[in-house]
Amino acid sequence: MTLPTRVPPGAPAHADALAELVEEALRGLADGRADRGGPAPQGPPGRLAAALLGDLGEPLPEEPQGPGALYELTRRYAAGAADPADPHCAAHLHCPPLAVAVAADLAASALNQSLDSWDQAPAATVLEPQVVRALAGLVGFNPAAAGGVVTTGGTESNLTGLMLARDTALRERFGVDAARAGVAAAPARPRILCGAAAHFSVQRSAALLGLGEDAVLAVPVDEGHRMRPEALRAALDAVAAAGEFTAAVVATAGTTDLGGIDPLPAVADLAAEYGAWLHVDAAYGGGALFSDRLAGLLTGLDRADSVALDLHKLGWQPVAAGVFLTRDAALFEPLARKVAYLNPADDEEAGYPSLLGRSLRTTRRADVFKIAVTLRALGRRGLGALVDGCHELAAHAARRIAAEARLELAAPPVLTSVVFRYRTGAGDAADDRANAALRRRLLAQGRAVVGRTEFGGRIWLKLTLLNPDATPADVDALVDQVAAAGAAEEAGAAAPEGEAG
Ligand SMILES: *Cc1c(COP(=O)(O)O)cnc(C)c1O
Repeated sequence: MTLPTRVPPGAPAHADALAELVEEALRGLADGRADRGGPAPQGPPGRLAAALLGDLGEPLPEEPQGPGALYELTRRYAAGAADPADPHCAAHLHCPPLAVAVAADLAASALNQSLDSWDQAPAATVLEPQVVRALAGLVGFNPAAAGGVVTTGGTESNLTGLMLARDTALRERFGVDAARAGVAAAPARPRILCGAAAHFSVQRSAALLGLGEDAVLAVPVDEGHRMRPEALRAALDAVAAAGEFTAAVVATAGTTDLGGIDPLPAVADLAAEYGAWLHVDAAYGGGALFSDRLAGLLTGLDRADSVALDLHKLGWQPVAAGVFLTRDAALFEPLARKVAYLNPADDEEAGYPSLLGRSLRTTRRADVFKIAVTLRALGRRGLGALVDGCHELAAHAARRIAAEARLELAAPPVLTSVVFRYRTGAGDAADDRANAALRRRLLAQGRAVVGRTEFGGRIWLKLTLLNPDATPADVDALVDQVAAAGAAEEAGAAAPEGEAG
C-alpha cells in the first residue's frame, strides 16, 4: 500500500493535497467493493462489527495513524456497505449517485461554503435561489414569486412546510404569533390532515411543532394508497364540527410503498374551500416532473402552498438533496431572523443578501452545488430519460412477477417501486413468515437487498428500482433470487443459510 505521505493528514483540502488523497479514496472504494463482491456484506451483523475496525483498534487512537487511515477505512467501509450502484440493491428510495454529482459534492466539501451568511458563501447565496427558481418553474409555480431552500430531505421539508402552515394559520385566524407565543395561545386546536399512507415525518413534525402527533388525522385511502376526496371532505367537516380547524392538508405525490399519488386537483379544491394550507410531499414522485411521459401524474401540484422534493431519490444526488418550495417567497416570513453577526440590516440594505431566513438550520452545507451541476450537465431531458428508464424497469419487474406462480403483485407500479409477496400456498400466516425470512436470508447472504413493508395486515416485499444502469436481465435475476429464497424457506427452516438457490 502506498501512503500519500507527502500530504499531512491535517492539511486543508487545497487541490494538490486533495488529488492524491482522492486517488487513495477511489482505490479504497474499488478494493472494498471487490472484497464485498455483491450488493451487501455477507453474514450476520456481528461479523461486520468485527470486520470494520477489527485489527485497527479504537476509533480514536491516542497517536496519529496518518493519511493511510483514509485507504484503510474506505476499503473496510465499502466492503461493509449496502451498495445502491449494485442492481440487486433495491430496497429503498436509495439511489446510486451520479458521478458528476459526487465530483461536484467533492468541490462543495473542499470549498466548505456555509449558507447562513453572505460572507461565508457569496456564490452559493446567489446560486441557491437560481436553482430554486428553476425547480419552482418545474413544479408549475411562478418562478419570480416562489421561494425555496435546499434541505436535508423530505423530513426537513415536511417539518418546514408544516411550521409555515401552523404559523400562517394561527396568525391569519387568531392574530396569534405561534413562533413566539406557542400553540397554546391558539383558542382552537390546529389539525393536520393527510392520507393514511403519508410519510411518518408528518406525525413527527406535528410533535416537534407542539401540536402533538394526535393532531394528525389520517384520511382513508383507496387500494392504490391515494387519499379519497370524499373522505377528506368528511374529515374537514368533522374537524370544523368539533370546533377545531385544519391548519394544513398534506397530500402525498408518491407514497413510499406503492408510489400512490393523491388526487391533487380534488385535494387542492378542498384545501382551498376550507382555507387550509396545502403542502404536497412529492419527495418521491417529484422526480416524475423531469419526464415528459410521467409529468402528467402530478397535475395539480402547482396549486400547493408548499412542496417537498427529494433529489436524492429520483434525482440521483448523493444524500442530502432535499428541496422545499413555496408558491410565494413571502410565506417564509415566520422563519425570518435578524442576527447581528450574520445578517445585519444595513448589510442587506447595501445589497448583501442572506438565506438565513430560509432554513431551520444555521450552518448549512452548499448541497445546492451538486444539484446545480447535475441540472446543467443532464438537463431536464437527461434526468427524464433516467426516470423513464427506472419506470420501465419497474414495469418489467411487475410483468415478471405476475408471470411467476409463487409471486403475487400488490398493484401495478406507478413510479419505480414494485410491491409483491411470495405465496406459500399454506395461508397468510405462513406467507408472512416466509416473506420476512426470505428477505433476511438474501440480506445475510449478501446477494440481494429487497425491501419489506406491511399493509392490509400482510407483509409485502418491495423493489424500489432507482438504478438507471440496471437491465431487465438484472431485474429477472433479482426476481429469480426472491422466488428461490422463498422456495428455500418453504422447504423448511432446515435449509442452512448460505445454501439456498
Ligand atoms: C423519502 C420520503 C420522505 C422522507 O424524506 P427524507 O429525505 O428521507 O428525509 C418523506 N416523504 C416521502 C413521500 C418520501 O418518499
